[in-house]
Amino acid sequence: MLPRYKRILLKLSGESLKAENSTEPFDPKIIEQYANDIKSITDLGVQVAVVIGAGNIYRGMNEAESGIERAHGDYMGMLATVINGMAMQAMLEKIGVYTRLQSALQMDQVAEPYIRRRAIRHLEKNRVVIFGAGTGNPYFTTDTGGSLRAIEIKADVILKGTRVDGIYTADPEKDPTATKFERISYRECVSKNLKIMDMTAFTLCEENKMPIIVFDMNKPGNLRRVIEGLNVGTLVSE
Ligand code: UDP
Repeated sequence: MLPRYKRILLKLSGESLKAENSTEPFDPKIIEQYANDIKSITDLGVQVAVVIGAGNIYRGMNEAESGIERAHGDYMGMLATVINGMAMQAMLEKIGVYTRLQSALQMDQVAEPYIRRRAIRHLEKNRVVIFGAGTGNPYFTTDTGGSLRAIEIKADVILKGTRVDGIYTADPEKDPTATKFERISYRECVSKNLKIMDMTAFTLCEENKMPIIVFDMNKPGNLRRVIEGLNVGTLVSE
């Protein structure tokens, strides 16, 4: 089987690492499932980079609500993405996948600094590269960090793993008549006000013609189905 994509960037939300209705930041079963799914595609020779959010631990909030200055809180959020990256790294290594964690903020004891060419070299050696600390700047999100890194490493596609199996005309959890798009253009997403990513991240993808596939990562085997070119999720492209 020839994989459809040779190099991918997988974007996972932090929230997805935690069990629903749990106060624990991690559900080891979910992380294990994700790690197994990642392994199933590295076994095909696909080069995998991963970006994880931090919503399960900390998300920057507005100052009025939290009493914490925005930029300060955003740095806290970035640090939290490194914790998530370390959790994923541990699970991947446990099942025999070689990994490297690169951080946009310096923390030499636990992660390499982000060096683009070095990240590409790791990918060429079939190591899974996890990018931590987002873009390294406050006022951004991990979607933007993921889009930026995907473009920098010349990934073929961003795979955005979510809890729903694609992009719908309306929120399928609220509207039973909502239907799924198999394919949609960047422009249509904007005109229909479909929020796939924040605008900064989305615009970066559009301007650099980086396709995005939104799919249900919680269904075991789905990641591999996407790589096999099966009709899973929704493709956003030109
Ligand atoms: N963050 C940031 N700059 C970045 C990436 C992330 O300041 O480049 C901060 C921001 O506060 C954000 C938090 O880290 O709210 C967690 O990221 P995100 O909300 O994207 O996580 P997710 O919603 O995917 O779990």
